[in-house]
Amino acid sequence: MKDRKEYITANLAEVEERIVAACAAAGRRREEVTLIVVTKTYPADDVRILSELGVRHVAENRDQDAAPKAAACSDLSLTWHFVGQLQTNKVRSVVGYAGVVQSIDRSRLVAALSKEAVRAGRELGCLLQVALDAGEGGRGERGGVAPEGVEELGDLVAEAPGLRLDGLMTVAPLAGEYAGRQQAAFERLMDLSTDLRRAHPAATMVSAGMSSDLEQAVAAGATHVRVGTAVLGVRPRLG
Ligand SMILES: *Cc1c(COP(=O)(O)O)cnc(C)c1O
Repeated sequence: MKDRKEYITANLAEVEERIVAACAAAGRRREEVTLIVVTKTYPADDVRILSELGVRHVAENRDQDAAPKAAACSDLSLTWHFVGQLQTNKVRSVVGYAGVVQSIDRSRLVAALSKEAVRAGRELGCLLQVALDAGEGGRGERGGVAPEGVEELGDLVAEAPGLRLDGLMTVAPLAGEYAGRQQAAFERLMDLSTDLRRAHPAATMVSAGMSSDLEQAVAAGATHVRVGTAVLGVRPRLG
């Protein structure tokens, strides 16, 4: 346990240095970028360590794992972000602990989230997940709405009771025109964010960048980076 805390402390310091350097290189202030630690596949004990080390935002991608973990950590002052593909039958559970859902990509999900947020008497932060590898009008391999669908879906979220449109999220595509071009992908996301903010000025969150490409995300203007491996280690299984 002590070793684990030392390991996470050292990794967190390294990631912090990377963010500081990336901000400096981009002429941005460190406060403009929020670190979200992705705790998927790791136990609640790790979340507790992160909280002790000052982390305030954590993310999960599977409700089955996230729900019990969030319950075990309900005494901590953390914001839980849901970043995985979300089925409507999991929405009630997710609304029970998530402060922000970053993976909104279809109108049915908006309707389900709105209904449950109202039922729970909560306001839920919402990011649209943009699939930069999606075909015209389609959805991405790993979920996400195509760029052409962002405006309409954004309007839908903004009008939905119980939901707050906070901004956009993406995962750098492995295929298509942006494969291997993370910074170009993140810049495209920024352009979409600029468009979205014309109609929804408060939707300022831009969630992009992971362990391997957080520098490119910060350079492009991301406000939130989602880092798992670089803080907690290589995951024991795919997740
Ligand atoms: C797992 C995951 C991350 C973190 O990825 P790392 O490469 O481990 O930093 C970020 N975003 C999403 C959506 C994820 O599923």
